[in-house]
Amino acid sequence: MGQKVQGTEDLLGGYMREWEHMLDVAREVFSAYGFDAVETPALEQVDTFVHGIGESTDVVRKEMFRVVSGALLGDLLAAGTESRLKARQRLALRPEGTAGFVRAAVENNLVPQGAAPMKAWYAGPMFRGERPQKGRLRQFHQVGVEVLGASDPALDAELIIMLVEFFVKLGFPAESLSLRINSMGDAACRPRYRASVRQFILDHADEMCDDCRERAELNPLRAFDCKNPACRAVMEGAPLVTDNLCEDCGAHYAQVKAYLDEAGIAYAEDPTLVRGLDYYTRTVFEVDVEEAGVGAIGGGGRYDGLVELEGGKPTPGIGFAVGFERISLALKALGRTLETPPAPCAFVACTPDARGAAFSATRLLRAAGIRTEQDYQGRSLKGQFKLADKLGARAVVVLGPDEVAAGGATVRDMQTHEQVLVPLDQLAAAVSSKL
Ligand code: AMP
Repeated sequence: MGQKVQGTEDLLGGYMREWEHMLDVAREVFSAYGFDAVETPALEQVDTFVHGIGESTDVVRKEMFRVVSGALLGDLLAAGTESRLKARQRLALRPEGTAGFVRAAVENNLVPQGAAPMKAWYAGPMFRGERPQKGRLRQFHQVGVEVLGASDPALDAELIIMLVEFFVKLGFPAESLSLRINSMGDAACRPRYRASVRQFILDHADEMCDDCRERAELNPLRAFDCKNPACRAVMEGAPLVTDNLCEDCGAHYAQVKAYLDEAGIAYAEDPTLVRGLDYYTRTVFEVDVEEAGVGAIGGGGRYDGLVELEGGKPTPGIGFAVGFERISLALKALGRTLETPPAPCAFVACTPDARGAAFSATRLLRAAGIRTEQDYQGRSLKGQFKLADKLGARAVVVLGPDEVAAGGATVRDMQTHEQVLVPLDQLAAAVSSKL
């Protein structure tokens, strides 16, 4: 018997309905804010992620699933190294949605230049080769939004407000959500800040782990996320990005906070929130449900340099993504669920001699948009009623010799057990009224 890959999950039954419900809520909330749905491939060139996410990030260095087509595998093994392959042959399963979306916008000439911003939302599987554990999968599902073409801090605030609204509509009590925000600076102030953190780590190198010593050279800000208690203690004294913002970034961040305050959104400033990807600039944010203990359920930020890194004209951008599996876990931890009941259904039952009439009645109900089931295994009428019950049918349509002779069908209400004989042209309406 085959087994699923460790760190992947099958979306079946009620779990699938949770995912579908999340998509419905996403469509409802995001379209009110002017977002259109998009879908980009799960398979992209490695370079799309290297350019945007950054070569030195954990996601690119350690977690990205590299993909080689069957025909290329031999060449790759013969070449001994992936770097001998052409860029278009070096593929990866997307670890996140933003880089691929920006690649698509640039490639299709959709990056707005002075026109109204482009707003898009997407949903689908993401892949990260992490060590599987609760809330940490190797294939998981995200819903995300992206906006290209505006740097107005009102937009940053609006996206954060929309994210909170989305979580509340999914069933999280507003007070269970803990929102942290920060500003990461921009091309003018971040390099200087990064250099000062690097120097700080080098000055404390003997108190820190090997990983952090390596981070000092590759990606010093990641040291803020180190789990090692000694490193955490050292990093408490590290210079903070919010003390090192340039004037423009400081003013932008102040405006974002002013808009959030005005909207009555509760947040905590966390100057150590650095997020794992290189493309972030200025505003970053993350939402946790502390009671649930599953880690962040969503996060995002501004990426004003990313369009350029993906080969387009300099264009500001901002977005966020939320993780379906963690949202499901977090809601369950709060005693709630994303699950919605299955769609109400009708069942068509018949005696053997009315099988043809039942087949037609089933088609008629389905054509009217009613979810309709029937028996395919030659059950007795009693057996068919049992099956209808098991499937949760609210109405059973019965066809026997009397109904066929009368040119109608009996509709039985499964709750009240009332039965009426109706002509076929009134059948759909009679069944609908029971659902
Ligand atoms: P990130 O881009 O890492 O901030 O991811 C955005 C959201 O996706 C997170 O807040 C999580 O909800 C979810 N997520 C990220 N990585 C994983 C993973 N390995 N397994 C499950 N969910 C994840």
